[in-house]
Amino acid sequence: MYQQDRVSIIGGGLAGLISAILLARKGWTVDLFEKKHYPFHRVCGEYISNETLPFLNKNGLFPGELGPQEITRLQLTSVNGKSAELSLDLGGFGISRYAFDNFLYKKALDAGVLVQCNTSVEGVQFNNNNFILKTSGSDHRSRLVIGAHGKRSKLDLQLNRDFIRRRSPYVGVKYHVRMDHPPGLIALHNFKDGYCGINNVEEGKTNICYLTHRDNTKHYGNIRDMEEHVLSKNPFLRTIFQKAELLFDKPEVINEISFETKKPVENHVLMTGDAAGMITPLCGNGMAMAIHSAKIVAEWSDKFLKKEITREAMEQGYKRDWSKEFSTRLWAGRQVQRLFGSEGASGIAVNIARYVKPVAGLLVRQTHGRFF
Ligand SMILES: Cc1cc2nc3c(=O)[nH]c(=O)nc-3n(C[C@H](O)[C@H](O)[C@H](O)COP(=O)(O)OP(=O)(O)OC[C@H]3O[C@@H](n4cnc5c(N)ncnc54)[C@H](O)[C@@H]3O)c2cc1C
Repeated sequence: MYQQDRVSIIGGGLAGLISAILLARKGWTVDLFEKKHYPFHRVCGEYISNETLPFLNKNGLFPGELGPQEITRLQLTSVNGKSAELSLDLGGFGISRYAFDNFLYKKALDAGVLVQCNTSVEGVQFNNNNFILKTSGSDHRSRLVIGAHGKRSKLDLQLNRDFIRRRSPYVGVKYHVRMDHPPGLIALHNFKDGYCGINNVEEGKTNICYLTHRDNTKHYGNIRDMEEHVLSKNPFLRTIFQKAELLFDKPEVINEISFETKKPVENHVLMTGDAAGMITPLCGNGMAMAIHSAKIVAEWSDKFLKKEITREAMEQGYKRDWSKEFSTRLWAGRQVQRLFGSEGASGIAVNIARYVKPVAGLLVRQTHGRFF
């Protein structure tokens, strides 16, 4: 194989690791660059939709040995503590990203992916039908580049992507705790300008993860005071924050979470996962979309690498499939998000879940895909 037949993948989250595994198993030489080192924690609710099960099982990527927790019911509470429960049509499972990403990292190594951890990609240039990637240490040549660098990266600035210049007010916070959370349940608790998801993951741990507005964090100056004065106004969250045993010294926190529309192909780089578009976390569907888009990008990449189609045909085909699968879901996620984070709207959402279950079921279905 010539040097230029290599594939470079930027970012080793779900989208990057899974596209790398699929392409390496097809026989391609794949370099994957990840700026961190496995295992590591990420801000994520850690609820994965069951739409991923056929794909994960077929490819030997379901993390059964890690003890994922089955989830079949959704509890919704309003800012002032009204509550409703729904059964989930598809359901999902809870597994920490610390464990799942590390499991996929090992699968990637087994598949022969050349993983370079602690390596940040700082620039990508496309010239004469080939790419040069710049990392802190050196330059790397490849024929194809997949961008799987997540929701926001310095690289997006270098690529001059539209969304990166617009500031976003959302902040994400995550803990692992020990608490008595009912098996099979994902809870979504509203508070002023935010919502908090709670579900069990492996080894008797529970994930608490919330999205808030930066005005809340600015106003109180620190996370603890904000939790006490804003989140704990919801009586469910008050009890949880009083009783839960925190397993981290400090929470994982990320800023500038953007749900802006992005393009799935930029400067000939095929974007996948959050790098192509991020769905609002309350849909519990971002990881399923990352996994599904990795499958789609690997299929189009394989055809191009085998020289069955031109680069242009690959880019057009990928854009078309990506939009068909994800555009409506991203739009629906943005609409549903409006029902959260205010007293009035979250009360309406709970009433819909309580009294008009078919409508609630429809809203959940609009933000999810089908088995793949
Ligand atoms: C608060 C919150 C809660 C969420 N809860 C859920 C949930 O319960 N269920 C769900 O399905 N989804 C949830 N999501 C969404 C989900 O986390 C993402 O959709 C998913 O992680 C996307 O995977 P990815 O592989 O695209 O990106 P990521 O998992 O973000 O991976 C990107 C990787 O790229 C690396 N990287 C970035 N830049 C570079 C660079 N220049 N060079 C090298 N490496 C780089 C990063 O270190 C990272 O490892 C939530 C998101 C948030 C913010």
